[in-house]
Amino acid sequence: MSKNTLSTDDARDQHGNPSGILEQANDVFDDMVELRRDLHKWPEVSNHLPRTRERVLQSLEGLPLDITLHQNTSGIAAMLTGGKPGPTVLLRADMDALPMPEDTDVDFRSKVDNVMHACGHDTHTAMLMGAAKILSARKADIPGRVLFMFQPGEEGHNGASEMLAEGLLDVGPESPVTGAFAIHAASNIPGGFLGLKGGTMMASSDFMNITVKGRGGHGSAPHFTLDPVPVACEIVQALQTLVTRRVDVFDPGVVTVTQIHTGTASNVIPESAFINGTIRAVSERTRSLIHDGLRRVAEGIAAAHGLEAEVEIGNGYDVTVNDTDYAHFAADVATAVSGDRNVRLMDNPVMGAEDFSYVLNRVQGAMMFLGLMPEGMDIMKAAPNHSNRAMYEENYMRRGAAVYSSIALRHLGVELS
Ligand SMILES: [Zn+2]
Ligand SMILES: [Zn+2]
Repeated sequence: MSKNTLSTDDARDQHGNPSGILEQANDVFDDMVELRRDLHKWPEVSNHLPRTRERVLQSLEGLPLDITLHQNTSGIAAMLTGGKPGPTVLLRADMDALPMPEDTDVDFRSKVDNVMHACGHDTHTAMLMGAAKILSARKADIPGRVLFMFQPGEEGHNGASEMLAEGLLDVGPESPVTGAFAIHAASNIPGGFLGLKGGTMMASSDFMNITVKGRGGHGSAPHFTLDPVPVACEIVQALQTLVTRRVDVFDPGVVTVTQIHTGTASNVIPESAFINGTIRAVSERTRSLIHDGLRRVAEGIAAAHGLEAEVEIGNGYDVTVNDTDYAHFAADVATAVSGDRNVRLMDNPVMGAEDFSYVLNRVQGAMMFLGLMPEGMDIMKAAPNHSNRAMYEENYMRRGAAVYSSIALRHLGVELS
């Protein structure tokens, strides 16, 4: 974990070194690596991450932060108040892992069975801790405040909304939160590369449960039954037709059936069949169009065959929408830190989902991806986020910490170069 093993131009670039921030990021690199590896070794899932919270608090010890421990979750809100008055800027990292086994051979691999930091949240937490150190050292010169949001439960537990409900943004009218920013690591994007876009950045994510209710009986005599099996198959096919025929190709959506369960024996027609899957959209318009269509198609097909379909649609995360001006601002800052060949305004959103969407529903801001693909890896072979083999290049955590810090300072009006 030596900080002298820079294999690329991470510490310097053609734009120079904005006001020493990258040097500061170098200085906190060892601390970031230490925290990241410790969290990686002892990952926790859901909204309750007691060890992780303890460890993060330890890493912030001695910094001039006002810390609020959230009660309903393991969330930490840490406020840095600058030496001059001004608004508040929010920087966010998520801290939770995934319920899955780890199959990497790094020597700090997970010691917890079936729990792995496979979405890079350990690196986010380390980078935000690094930014807290960098910005704390500049406290006197900061015209405003920086709110560091360490959230649990991003992986399906909506930790962000829990923290919002507990008053995360209630920071007083004299210094309101005027911008919110987040960085998400990607294990299959080249190291140090930053990507974002204005407008929709990530999709909404909802789930569907469809129960096709028929009447069971003998496999040899289907006419005495209401067989749910062919009806379930027809519904699955028709959902794909719904997506290709009803959804505007320029405002896309995805419906993926991931489970079909029914039956117990080769000569028994079951009473019902169960279909489950995920729904993604990049606008609220397409999202509700798919919800309505899915109900109509499933219920209509079942009714056509004399059966019934019960459709349950569960709302997951909202569409994550970057404010266009804030996204361009964040891209400019990232360019100043890392050079323009390392920053790209993306053409298309990503169909994954994020609960940072709920923060962006309340405050203008932007989230971006940071490539942490290990050095020398083939991009086509790199294990993506959520893979049991996902690995992350720690060297570029410096860039993440520097970008977080620079965004906060520039948002509050500090000139950096
Ligand atoms: Zn994830
Ligand atoms: Zn994630």
